[in-house]
Amino acid sequence: MSNEWGFADDRFPELRRAVQRLCADFPGPYWQKLDAAKAYPTDFVQAMTEAGFLAALIPEEYGGGGATIAEASAILEEINRSGANGGVCHAQMYTMGALVRHGSAEQKARWLPEIAAGHLRLQAFGVTEPTAGSDTTAIQTRAVRDSDEYIITGQKIWTSRAEHSDLLLLLARTTLADQVERRTHGLSLFLVDLHEATNTGLTIRPIETMLNHHTTELFFDGVRVPAANRIGDEGKGFRYILDGMNAERILIAAESVGDGRWFIEKAVDYANSRVVFGRPIGQNQGVQFPIANAYAHLRAADLMRWEACRLFDGGLPCGAEANLAKMLAADSAWDAANVCLQTHGGFGFATEYDVERKFREAKLYQIAPVSNNLVLAYVAQHVLGLTRSY
Ligand SMILES: Cc1cc2nc3c(=O)[nH]c(=O)nc-3n(C[C@H](O)[C@H](O)[C@H](O)COP(=O)(O)OP(=O)(O)OC[C@H]3O[C@@H](n4cnc5c(N)ncnc54)[C@H](O)[C@@H]3O)c2cc1C
Repeated sequence: MSNEWGFADDRFPELRRAVQRLCADFPGPYWQKLDAAKAYPTDFVQAMTEAGFLAALIPEEYGGGGATIAEASAILEEINRSGANGGVCHAQMYTMGALVRHGSAEQKARWLPEIAAGHLRLQAFGVTEPTAGSDTTAIQTRAVRDSDEYIITGQKIWTSRAEHSDLLLLLARTTLADQVERRTHGLSLFLVDLHEATNTGLTIRPIETMLNHHTTELFFDGVRVPAANRIGDEGKGFRYILDGMNAERILIAAESVGDGRWFIEKAVDYANSRVVFGRPIGQNQGVQFPIANAYAHLRAADLMRWEACRLFDGGLPCGAEANLAKMLAADSAWDAANVCLQTHGGFGFATEYDVERKFREAKLYQIAPVSNNLVLAYVAQHVLGLTRSY
């Protein structure tokens, strides 16, 4: 049975309840304190790991949950719907795909059980660089083969959770762009042991941001990484990353749906209880219509998210749906955030209501991990057949 507002809570109700129970131990004040201190929610991530949620997408034979993308999306939706922030740990779900799909049997046997058991965290994904944001193939970080190692030199920016992860999935150029047929060639993917790397030339520098996202800059100064840590073939890293993007888009969409639900539930509660001019503010059309409008858009985005899940789990092409779901959900969560803050009036700015914190967090998904303009460029080119614009 769906809930009374029509969201698909009948999908995986037990899983949802389990996530809700866990999140109930980490209420608003927990996140407010961390936000003020810019601190990492170690207890929350530990609890999520012990419950097996962060290993949901690891196949069962390696000790993981063997979940579908639809189930994984329900986990992230419930985290964000509870008022928490899946961004503190979601990368473990996204990045896992590269290792699961393209790692060798040896690599999978070495890392996946350790990650599933919670002994290792794979929370960091290093793609973006100061001079290469949306244009991934322009990255400059080099990996040069030296016998049975690669020597990594370069810089990454916005590498989130690097200080709270044991492993980093890194994209680096193994063949210079002017020596390959296409710029998408010559990029390779590595699983970097962050503890070893920090002892051999990696510097991690935190970046102050408007939200508590534990993001950093990485400086590689001749860091040596064993060739055995390269995922898949040399030069095919960009393709491996593209493979994982649909999963990433769908999971981000689910987080945004969770955010949107949180904002709408909060807005409705407040609109019903706050009395001004002798009546609840929610009785005014000027207050209730924007909430209803945000709800309508969120419901539509959620349907696209489930359609993308259906296609993905059925092994069918889902690039258009995954991208659309991500964009529509991020936009409708942002609308809902605005409406929720507006509905709360001045109290929306008070940290104890959590609205301003979630407002800052919800904005991110219109920009990262891919900006909505790039989603539109994808749709224009690959769905509508328009000329590539960039
Ligand atoms: C808090 C945070 C955490 C992050 N975490 C990670 C992480 O863990 N790992 C990682 O690798 N990266 C991470 N990122 C980086 C993120 O993926 C990038 O910010 C994002 O891909 C956009 O790149 P950019 O910021 O360089 O923007 P740019 O590419 O410089 O774009 C700037 C603006 O121009 C627009 N634009 C650019 N080109 C076009 C075009 N052709 N047509 C239309 N519009 C265009 C974009 O939409 C955007 O609005 C994070 C970013 C943030 C802010």
